[in-house]
Amino acid sequence: MKYYVLFGPPGAGKGTQATAMVEKYNLHHISTGALLRKEIAAGTELGLQAKALIEKGCLVPDEVVEGMIENEFKNVTGVDGFLLDGFPRTLPQAEALDNILTKTSEEVTATVSIMIPDAMIMERIKGRAIKEGRADDASEDIINNRIATYHNQTEPLIEYYRKTRKYHEIDGAGTIEEVRDRIFSVMDKF
Ligand code: AMP
Repeated sequence: MKYYVLFGPPGAGKGTQATAMVEKYNLHHISTGALLRKEIAAGTELGLQAKALIEKGCLVPDEVVEGMIENEFKNVTGVDGFLLDGFPRTLPQAEALDNILTKTSEEVTATVSIMIPDAMIMERIKGRAIKEGRADDASEDIINNRIATYHNQTEPLIEYYRKTRKYHEIDGAGTIEEVRDRIFSVMDKF
């Protein structure tokens, strides 16, 4: 099994690119953000707890998303691998992922990182807000908090994956097709 981490700031285009990646490489797409939004829509206990945090632009507790990931790994078959989108987002989550995979003598195959500057994050998220109507895309304050959360809690993961030589950075500026082709040229190596 291949385990790809799709990394990048909010608005980098992870969700958009994930669609093409899962199709080309027969992967199962796991977006922790999408799974949490499903829980919110279903009105579950977990959804209720997550909603308040998501709407402030904060992260939900590590254990919540770690449990979701482990469930998906167990329950999905018939694919050549998994594409993790929006997970891990903290160092403890990255360590938990390594521990989960070690249990089956597996490891992260590669981290594909889509990078865009902060100014582009705001512009892209505002564009997406009009199309998708996500509550956490609704105000500049919430978006700014998500950008800060990314820099403080998620960015340290770059160093974590760089150390293992699993980190592959892609320029996220340009058209969807240009960025997709840059990603494919990295993934074709695995
Ligand atoms: P996303 O769709 O990936 O932008 O995620 C939307 C929101 O869900 C984030 O701003 C967080 O509040 C929450 N979330 C998604 N993935 C995680 C994660 N791995 N750890 C903690 N919170 C997460």
